[in-house]
Amino acid sequence: MNPQADIPQEETLDPGDWDSMRALGHRIVDDAMDYLETLRERPVWQHAPPHVKAHFEGPPPAGPMPPGEVYQEYLRYILPHQLGNAHPRYWGWVTGSGTVIGMYAEMLAAATDAVSGAFSYMSNNYVERQVLDWCKDLLGYPRTASGLLTSGCSASNLIGLAVARNTLAGFDVRGKGMTDQTRRMTLYCSEEAHSSIDKAVELLGFGSESLRRVSIDELLRIDVAALEEAIQRDRKSGCHPICIIGVAGTTNTGAVDDMNALADIAAKERCWFHVDGAFGAWAAIAPRSKHLVAGIGRADSLAFDLHKWMYLAYPIGCILVRNADDHRRAFSLTPSYLAHGEGDRGLTGIDVPWLSDYGFELSRGFHALKAWMTFKEQGTAKYGRLIQQNIDQAHYLARQAESAPELELALPVSLNVVNFRFTVAGVPDGRLNEINKQIEIEIQEQGIAVPSTVTIRGRIFLHVAITNHRSRNDDFDLLVREVIRIGKELT
Ligand SMILES: *Cc1c(COP(=O)(O)O)cnc(C)c1O
Repeated sequence: MNPQADIPQEETLDPGDWDSMRALGHRIVDDAMDYLETLRERPVWQHAPPHVKAHFEGPPPAGPMPPGEVYQEYLRYILPHQLGNAHPRYWGWVTGSGTVIGMYAEMLAAATDAVSGAFSYMSNNYVERQVLDWCKDLLGYPRTASGLLTSGCSASNLIGLAVARNTLAGFDVRGKGMTDQTRRMTLYCSEEAHSSIDKAVELLGFGSESLRRVSIDELLRIDVAALEEAIQRDRKSGCHPICIIGVAGTTNTGAVDDMNALADIAAKERCWFHVDGAFGAWAAIAPRSKHLVAGIGRADSLAFDLHKWMYLAYPIGCILVRNADDHRRAFSLTPSYLAHGEGDRGLTGIDVPWLSDYGFELSRGFHALKAWMTFKEQGTAKYGRLIQQNIDQAHYLARQAESAPELELALPVSLNVVNFRFTVAGVPDGRLNEINKQIEIEIQEQGIAVPSTVTIRGRIFLHVAITNHRSRNDDFDLLVREVIRIGKELT
């Protein structure tokens, strides 16, 4: 009897047949390119019907399936029923649209299973540092600032507010925890700020009651006088105001808080100034619109996305912190970051902290690569023109809405977001709300375009947020025509 027979053959997840797997890869790239090249001819989205939902119920697959068949399932059940945000007429909520070379970059990053975060002396960490430096340069932030690429602006806001808390609490938050708080720490943002701020405030142990939602002016920006009053009121009642959060581009309307006024108040009140510039920060590179976000460079921490208005595929966001020491002190678990350098033969002279010393995750994907490759391929000047093009398109659509008697604009366009509604003289708001909600559903379900809706002062408006490099003016003409057609059919 052969004693070897009991030993199972060693296994691997690599293909048994490299040639056919290679052919499948080529096919996948071809199909993805076909998808992107013909996007415009297809409906924006198609909801998954019940049989598709049913397909995703069932036990884990115990045995193998040929890779070509797995891919067929993707083509049949997954590809057609996604959000469709790469489509030229997708403008719902605030969503990006992706780039072709960015898709390749994600594949390349996966090919080497690249890990970013630790081991500073690897090329992928240098790529991330360069992308961070480019972001600083483009957004008017000092090179001495620190930063980290994140999974999105929610994570960026969490990191920024964590640094604010640990820097200004006045006690050792990392050691003592929030129970050592003798005075309640308070934070300030407008009523229109994003829910990710609430989540960050709750996760960091401030408690949601510590977040002061300050009232807004007629353009839905934070009311600066009301902010100052709120801070004074809190000081009188023994609270400890520590952070002012400005929004550069609110999700609902694209409103931009007065950044310079907020920076001045923060300096006077010895508060941290955090800016949530999820998409709006990028107006800073638009040739004719930089002034709209003047002052964001004064933030102590600046959070933004690269998967919304910089059009990169999900996920990728960023946080920049003006004082790199504050940033590292909030997250580093190494007493001296030089400790990481030990053992790096001949390289110990380069004092590069690990990227994981700037956030809460250790292992992260190599998302920097899609930013780096896309920025190189396109050039940042073109990016500036595209951001400007989206702002110009918002004004174009707003003019159409203003000049059509059936349509009404909610408020003047401040950035790249247009809110308008179908209206009929003499019909009350309650009924108009129902009609506009129905228009949203019809226009989406008929596959024409994807706007979303928002409620502004009790009225429902269609919401068109233009963070799409594929949209053209005639797409907005079509939207206007179809909204009027559907609105008339409904009334
Ligand atoms: C989208 C958005 C966020 C959250 O960003 P994610 O990338 O979705 O995590 C935060 N703030 C504003 C203003 C946003 O529009």
